[in-house]
Amino acid sequence: MTLRARLTAAFLAVVLGPVLLGAVFVGIAVAAVSDQRAMERLDAGAQNVHAALKVTCQRLRLAAETTALVTADGDQPDAAQRAVVSGLARAVEVTSADGTVLTTAGTLPPKPWADCAAPETTAYTAIAASVDVLDPSSRRIGRAYAVEPVDAALLHWLAESSGVGVDSLPPGPASGAHIADTARDLELGATATTPDGHLVRRLAPESGQPLALALSVPKPDPQGLYAVLVAVVACAGVVAISVAWWLARSTTHPLTELAVAVERVADGDLSARVPVRSQDEVGRLGQTFNRMTREMQGYVQALTASRDQLRGQLGVLGDTLAGTHDLDRILQVILQTAAAATGAQSGVVLMVDPASGELRGQVGEGLAGIDVAELRLQLGDGLLGAVAASGEPRRGRVERDGPVLSPAEPRCITYVAVPIAAPGVGPTTGLEPQSDLPPAARGVLALYDRHGFDEFDDSDLITLRTFAGQAAVAVDNVRVHEEAQRLSLTDPLTGLSNYRYLRESLRREVERASRFGRSLAALALDLDRFKEVNDTYGHAAGDAVLAEFARRLRAEIREVDFAFRQGGEEFVVLLPETDAIGAAVLAERLGAAVRRTPVLVISSTPGQAPRRVPVTVSIGIAVFPFHGSTGAAVLEAADDALYAAKASGRDMYKIAPDAPVPAVHVPVPGADVPVPAADVPVPGPDGPVKASTEVTPGAPKAAQPPRQSRGG
Ligand code: GH3
Ligand code: MG
Ligand code: MG
Repeated sequence: MTLRARLTAAFLAVVLGPVLLGAVFVGIAVAAVSDQRAMERLDAGAQNVHAALKVTCQRLRLAAETTALVTADGDQPDAAQRAVVSGLARAVEVTSADGTVLTTAGTLPPKPWADCAAPETTAYTAIAASVDVLDPSSRRIGRAYAVEPVDAALLHWLAESSGVGVDSLPPGPASGAHIADTARDLELGATATTPDGHLVRRLAPESGQPLALALSVPKPDPQGLYAVLVAVVACAGVVAISVAWWLARSTTHPLTELAVAVERVADGDLSARVPVRSQDEVGRLGQTFNRMTREMQGYVQALTASRDQLRGQLGVLGDTLAGTHDLDRILQVILQTAAAATGAQSGVVLMVDPASGELRGQVGEGLAGIDVAELRLQLGDGLLGAVAASGEPRRGRVERDGPVLSPAEPRCITYVAVPIAAPGVGPTTGLEPQSDLPPAARGVLALYDRHGFDEFDDSDLITLRTFAGQAAVAVDNVRVHEEAQRLSLTDPLTGLSNYRYLRESLRREVERASRFGRSLAALALDLDRFKEVNDTYGHAAGDAVLAEFARRLRAEIREVDFAFRQGGEEFVVLLPETDAIGAAVLAERLGAAVRRTPVLVISSTPGQAPRRVPVTVSIGIAVFPFHGSTGAAVLEAADDALYAAKASGRDMYKIAPDAPVPAVHVPVPGADVPVPAADVPVPGPDGPVKASTEVTPGAPKAAQPPRQSRGG
């Protein structure tokens, strides 16, 4: 059963119940009242009939007396006639003392007559009043009768003057008339109802009223009243049903809309709203629902936005972790991401300095007026020191939970601080320096003052521990990376690959050249008289020269070429797919580039002017597979050529002497001049190079390496 049906039923019960009861009550009451009024009408009618008959009797007596008087007085036979004519009686009879009728007037009804003076219930046809006729000596000489017949006219007159129905009740058998038959058996003063719906009362003869009469009034008919009542109840019912339906509908319709909207919300549609049509409870419910969904929508949007922001931040974190070994940058992003994830306004990361054993500020976020790099804190000091010393995370509100903040650390109202795991707690590499420091943590990650003055909760703590774990891993990674850097293949002074990488590369490139039948040129380089540079300008200047030489070297070679610092002031260049001529071109160009511009060295001594250091380089060239079948052999040949160049006076290049003819045919690609494998025609001033070739720089020919000479 729906709510609407229940409400309608309840309303109908409440409204129609009283209406029906009232109708029944009114019906009963009205019937009783109308019975009462009928009785009262009967009472009044009885009095009126009584009075009317009394008047009739008095009138008849007057007629009788007048007749008797006139008859006695003058013996006038028309005395009776005059009484009739004057309307005092309908008929008059005068008898002698012995009862002989002397005279009559009018139409005498047959006897017996009801005597006004001596009423008794006998049959009668008329009312009569009589007086003695006396002679002058008062001797009775006869009797005068005035008569009024009891006929329809009299009864009609009585009914007219009393307002009730009047019937004569002469004793006798049942007349067949309902009223007379019912009244005849009634007790005096009692009332009965006839089958045809009349209230009836019997009137007995008495002094002044000699007739037996039945008085009647039509019993009031309640049928009309009941019909009206039924009509009223029906109308009330129709109105009540209409009103109940309208009320139930106006009450339940908003609830139905609300139910539909709630279902939509349950299905995830937070844009659901209900129309608010009134300010009653249902209207307020609708308003509240709308407000609730609006706020939920806003909340979800905010959550989505913050999730997107966090996602972006996590992306940055991932990129940072993957793309850099800059610890500060990584910690900064971790701190920013942790702050974004928890809604913190500020935060700081401190790391334990293994040397001093104190906490040092590493990175900060949102800390106004604090130089994080200058932040120093003893273990156990304040909040951050306590967390680092104990390794126990803490969260809370400073003024309620403490601890007393150290003057050095950032001010805050609420905080959450977690340790960054110490070595052995998180993943370790075995590379980190063994520390005999007591702290339980390697550092501290702390966030302050969550937006909205909320405290950090346990989920924030868990989140922050996750980020602290990331930070610990990042620290480890950076340490490992730094260690790897140390052992890496790059020479830190020049940025060139180091000797280890040279060996590796030489092996790989020789293998490649061998597989594809290509040549590989190797250049051995050695700065000339470098010892003197050091001695003259100092070791630092020597370093600067080495770095500058490496820069110029890099500028001259192709991208596919490799340059190495073999050690000291000795370098090696590998030129894949290059023959002796190509290598000679490079050697010439490089020698010129070094020779042309002395290296500008800025002195470390304050006030001393920068100095120009002239540098030259000697170069030996060997080509795989012509000068050696292995990388080591080729390198050795190049070294030998270098030695030859040194011996020949430096600042020049030499190509290794002819080598055994390799078994493979080596096509020489590109614009390089083809060098037949069987013969290495590197013409020089002394003809084809046999042992070493001295060429003049600056006059390269297409088919032969440039001739080298002592540069200027
Ligand atoms: P040349 O090669 O022309 O025969 O003479 P040289 O003076 O260069 O002779 P040698 O190869 O014997 O000397 C190399 C010097 O280079 C020795 C050392 O003082 C210097 N040297 C080696 N490595 C470095 C370095 O890393 N920095 C500096 N500043 N000097 C270095
Ligand atoms: Mg040298
Ligand atoms: Mg040397």
